Amino acid sequence: MDTLYADFHIHTVYSSDSLIQPKTFVDMLSAHNYIKVAAITDHDSVRACKAVRTLASSYPDILIIPGVEITTTAGDMLVLGTEELPPKPWSPQDVVDYAKSIGAVSIVAHPYRLYGMGDVARTLKVDAIEVLNGGSSTAANQQAKQMAKEIGLPGTAGSDAHQISELFSVCNQIQADLNIDSVLNAIRKGLITTQTDAKPIHF
Ligand SMILES: [Zn+2]
Repeated sequence: MDTLYADFHIHTVYSSDSLIQPKTFVDMLSAHNYIKVAAITDHDSVRACKAVRTLASSYPDILIIPGVEITTTAGDMLVLGTEELPPKPWSPQDVVDYAKSIGAVSIVAHPYRLYGMGDVARTLKVDAIEVLNGGSSTAANQQAKQMAKEIGLPGTAGSDAHQISELFSVCNQIQADLNIDSVLNAIRKGLITTQTDAKPIHF
């Protein structure tokens, strides 16, 4: 297995609130000197995933994890490893069950920020908690980290980028091979640490 660096929370223009174009994003990822894995997690949409993966296929050293950020009835949840939307209704438990049924990974996004599900996360059988979100305050991230520790779940990091300058502001170091199944397994097994010192590349 290799040591890989990954950003697990990125929005493209297919999220109505993001300015990031798929092509620019793929160019940024391939230009980055160590982050080579990234998850596309638009709000309630998987429309960008295919386009991004097609663009990325010309670069053998980068890996795109198709995913989505679902607006569940209790707060935001990331699903990594899906190119389809979960069937509605989007209760947190339904989304967790969907992820399990297709071999995807469910992650509670920024639990202690706006649109986060807070302590509801403690009651769910998710695979991980996002403990380092690029758009959250230090206090909110600390609180998420503490919860993940208390309930014994791995923590993940994601920039939650909605514009180019926000990409790769934080990242995960994972022990995995450069393929989707291996990366998802590393998250499940907790072969992952988070770090804030990722430096964005500016063109
Ligand atoms: Zn987000």
